[in-house]
Amino acid sequence: MKKEVDVLVIGAGPSGSVAAAILNKAGVSVQVVEKMKFPRFVIGESLLPRCMEALEEAGLLEAVKAKGFQRKDGAKFVMEDKICDFNFSHQYTHGWQWTWQVPRADFDKTLADECERMGVSISYETEVTGIEILEDHSIITVKGSTGNMETIKAKFIIDGSGYGRVIPRLFGLERPSSLPPRKAVFCHVTDPRRSDAFEPNRIVVYVHQPKTWIWVIPFSNGNTSLGFVGDPAFFDQYKGTLKEQYQGLLAAEPEIAARFEQAEMIWDEPKMLQSWSVTTDTFYGKGFVLTGNVTEFLDPIFSSGVTLATVSAQMAAGLVIRHLKGEQVDWKEEYMNPMMKGIDVFRTYVNAWYDGSLFNIFFAPEPDLEIRAQICSVLAGYVWDETNPFVARHAKNVRALSNFLVAKRSLV
Ligand SMILES: Cc1cc2nc3c(=O)[nH]c(=O)nc-3n(C[C@H](O)[C@H](O)[C@H](O)COP(=O)(O)OP(=O)(O)OC[C@H]3O[C@@H](n4cnc5c(N)ncnc54)[C@H](O)[C@@H]3O)c2cc1C
Repeated sequence: MKKEVDVLVIGAGPSGSVAAAILNKAGVSVQVVEKMKFPRFVIGESLLPRCMEALEEAGLLEAVKAKGFQRKDGAKFVMEDKICDFNFSHQYTHGWQWTWQVPRADFDKTLADECERMGVSISYETEVTGIEILEDHSIITVKGSTGNMETIKAKFIIDGSGYGRVIPRLFGLERPSSLPPRKAVFCHVTDPRRSDAFEPNRIVVYVHQPKTWIWVIPFSNGNTSLGFVGDPAFFDQYKGTLKEQYQGLLAAEPEIAARFEQAEMIWDEPKMLQSWSVTTDTFYGKGFVLTGNVTEFLDPIFSSGVTLATVSAQMAAGLVIRHLKGEQVDWKEEYMNPMMKGIDVFRTYVNAWYDGSLFNIFFAPEPDLEIRAQICSVLAGYVWDETNPFVARHAKNVRALSNFLVAKRSLV
């Protein structure tokens, strides 16, 4: 047996780093095991203000601040000539009013490096391949970069392995999502025509077709992340290599075509992802808890991924600390149910986006500013604020407001 620790964290993404930092601050011995060498690419570049609270509690905020990432003050939605501009300073919930747009390779490395600086041990290029849960500890088998196998003994495991989904895969907990499969094609590009008119301090989402949309996420390094998301069948009309398909997509939306006419791709090839929505039977079990994408990932439309990853890590780490002190933790009541509440709020907005009902609300000609502020808080990630009617009764209120606005329009 090589090593014994209190907690083994799988993955050094935002979820793993936040969990590890909070545990380390509390004096818990932590080992992070990360399959890749950092920096490594992962998608998920537009953050939400709510994640700042998790970064702050973890003691990671100052390290990120020092990197000078692009500040994000809001999210703008564009459909033909209609614009809906959410500014996080005009929101209902009292919380963070800004966050960042980040190349994730740099952001995740910043978090992981800061964890190491605090004293967390991280083993890179080390992959968890097996887990045996025993009575009061687990034995985790890991494979190093040279193929060497080792075991680690841990009292508790936090699985923050993201798309790796280590524990759900090993223990057969994966379940299909209720959301239909979607596909994304994206690249980092130069942005020679960026100007203040294009407001780099926000993500811009273009409705390209009812179920197809485009993200524009400017970075402080002058490059911009530009991606297309839609039904897999939508992409079939674009032929050729992925690069040719991407160029065809760029040309199809007039404002995007004009702005990025002279842009160059930073990568040799754009990237493609599809069918990412997946869920699990449970978010916890004897000796382990799942955090971040391993729990459930819905859809990128409202940039909820990193926020759910960091908030779940924040919540889980606090409970693991109590568990290790011998306190009774009700994982269902104290972890899974609250996490599901937040996820379900986002699910309502994701569904309302793809069925078009959110367009009635976002692009209404004279929006009610109080309601706009309540919805803005949801888009800022404050999906646990039960005093917000668009959180507490999300499904009912989104449906009712959309129906009301459609009826009002038909009377005019
Ligand atoms: C098209 C698309 C666009 C998106 N856009 C956004 C966005 O704008 N904003 C946003 O917030 N989210 C976005 N997301 C979601 C975002 O990618 C994830 O929610 C986020 O990265 C989750 O963080 P995490 O820490 O849970 O996992 P990750 O960031 O995936 O980190 C998990 C880590 O675990 C490691 N790992 C995996 N398997 C193993 C193993 N066996 N052993 C050891 N280590 C392992 C991986 O190498 C990885 O480094 C998007 C997703 C998609 C599909």
